[in-house]
Amino acid sequence: MAEEKLSFQTEVSRLLRIVANSLYSEKRIFLRELISNASDACDRLRYEAITEPGLIDDDPEFRVRIELDPEARTVSVVDNGIGMNREGLIADLGTIARSGTSAYLEQVSGDEAKDMALIGQFGVGFYSAFMVADRVEVTSRRAGEDGAWRWASEGLGEFTVGEAERAGRGTTVTLYMRDGEDEFLEPAGLRGIVKTYSDHIALPIVLADGGGEETVNEASALWTRPRAEIDRDQYSEFYRHVGHAFDEPWMTIHWRAEGVHEYTTLAFIPSQRPFDLFNPERKHGVKLYVKRVFVTDDCAELVPQWLRFLRGLVDSEDLPLNISREMLQNNPLLARMRAAIVRRVLGELAKKAEAEPADYAAFWENFGPVLKEGLYEDPDNRGEILKLARFHSTADGGPVGLDAYVERMKEGQEAIYYIAGEALDSVRQSPQLEGFRARGIEVLLMTDPVDEFWIPAVGTHADKPFRSATRAGADLADIAVEDAAESGEAIDQGRIDSVIAMFKLALKDEVKDVRSSDRLTDSAACLVADEGDLDINLERLLKQHGQIESGFKRILEINPGHDLIRSLAEAVGKGAAAGRLSDTAWLVLDQARIMEGETPPDPAAFSRRMSEALARGLDAG
Ligand code: ADP
Repeated sequence: MAEEKLSFQTEVSRLLRIVANSLYSEKRIFLRELISNASDACDRLRYEAITEPGLIDDDPEFRVRIELDPEARTVSVVDNGIGMNREGLIADLGTIARSGTSAYLEQVSGDEAKDMALIGQFGVGFYSAFMVADRVEVTSRRAGEDGAWRWASEGLGEFTVGEAERAGRGTTVTLYMRDGEDEFLEPAGLRGIVKTYSDHIALPIVLADGGGEETVNEASALWTRPRAEIDRDQYSEFYRHVGHAFDEPWMTIHWRAEGVHEYTTLAFIPSQRPFDLFNPERKHGVKLYVKRVFVTDDCAELVPQWLRFLRGLVDSEDLPLNISREMLQNNPLLARMRAAIVRRVLGELAKKAEAEPADYAAFWENFGPVLKEGLYEDPDNRGEILKLARFHSTADGGPVGLDAYVERMKEGQEAIYYIAGEALDSVRQSPQLEGFRARGIEVLLMTDPVDEFWIPAVGTHADKPFRSATRAGADLADIAVEDAAESGEAIDQGRIDSVIAMFKLALKDEVKDVRSSDRLTDSAACLVADEGDLDINLERLLKQHGQIESGFKRILEINPGHDLIRSLAEAVGKGAAAGRLSDTAWLVLDQARIMEGETPPDPAAFSRRMSEALARGLDAG
């Protein structure tokens, strides 16, 4: 077959444009990505060869060679791993399989610093070659197949694929260096870079720089070395390799379990939130190795979903090397390792939360929403996870834990109060919080969608029930007001009752009930959910996801200390015109809806009432 010209998937072209504009200040990371891919390719073949030894009979020693040719201005990374055939080259090097990529790349702004952070979260892998090369050729032969193929591109929207020659299986990636990128063509300089990026790799990495050949790394699996012999940089490099990551690990957890079962775990928590954390299809989690041989990076049994931000590996001494997919499911050994990993990670997090609260807060900001899923998915670890949970709150100061919250509860306060909503800024403004503020009661601000699910599942903490500040049952009457100036003097009960009666008459079935409220100081009214009904925020979430169509009716609470309610009471007392009173009642309701972030269901009527009220106000003044 002759050479074919093909176009990159749009996302790849877009990514390549960003890469070619060299967003990384550290261009040399291209070598890390290529060595990493070469080592992965060897790992994958080594595993396949367990059941099909014929695949590697002719060349059983896995290795990666870096070949420098200063004359030709090329650097090549050569492996004898699994290789790619024509389809593989097109699919793997012409498209990006990660879903959500397109939407993610839309965010690229042209602002270099911003884009750099963005792409850092994403990772460019193979395409980083185009930071330093103006032409890249990949010659590959898939293990067990006869033909070889060459993929080539200048990184400008198109690539070619055609038949080629290659002596054995594996892949050669050749970079034709751009003018000016001479740093990578100097034998001494290149050696240093290769050393940095191959130190933790378990295969021999051989450098052939024209002057001769040498193996530059120790070629022993990093995780098998004693902790004391591994420095921070080595851990970081390994993390980037195993996690396909570009940041620093926020936490490194490395231990060896000895006893009935032996296994080594080397797990990392990233310092940046990966772009696809909430994408259920994402891979590259914790990899499973058996006796140093890579088995799979897709072992759902090894780490629970709610720890899906973990990166790294577990290397078991006890599982059989030829373990099949079916054997991985419901495997008691895996279940035991999983329980131990969970315990260990939660334990390390607890230590960190205690010792370095500010640093811990950064972790929580990134991964708290994922960890909280464990509160309803894993009742066994609920207590530990609750201890780790941090919340924004109406109190000043940093995020607060539940124990600290309970400690600062007010006298007479029976419940842990929270308010749920979409964004911190808007929930902070909720009128429902006014009465809590006046009493100095702290309210937790919950803005993650998962909050609506774990709170009912958990129910209480330290025997205190969780209670939404937007619910009728949040009874503040028994708690003293600290700041009396904040709430106006309430009118007497008889007059409130007549205002309430007027509201009910005017609004009829539009609301479930109308009540006088303790929870307001500045606003005239607010909407709350009745005890047994869905929380307002949850209802909004479910509506957005098309889970429910019509909502629950709400209770309208009015503030007996507010000027408007007082004037209304007077007007009711004087026997004002029913139409005018009713219009005011409707305006109060629509206002309360607006404060909830909703639009009045009948904007035309709202606007008419508002205009008339304003005109009357101007006439009177
Ligand atoms: P990632 O490694 O994060 O998946 P890359 O863009 O670096 O992303 O690589 C894309 C895919 O191309 C890899 O997942 C792999 O399937 C394939 N690939 C890259 N390099 C090699 C190689 N040296 N040998 C075999 N396959 C490779």
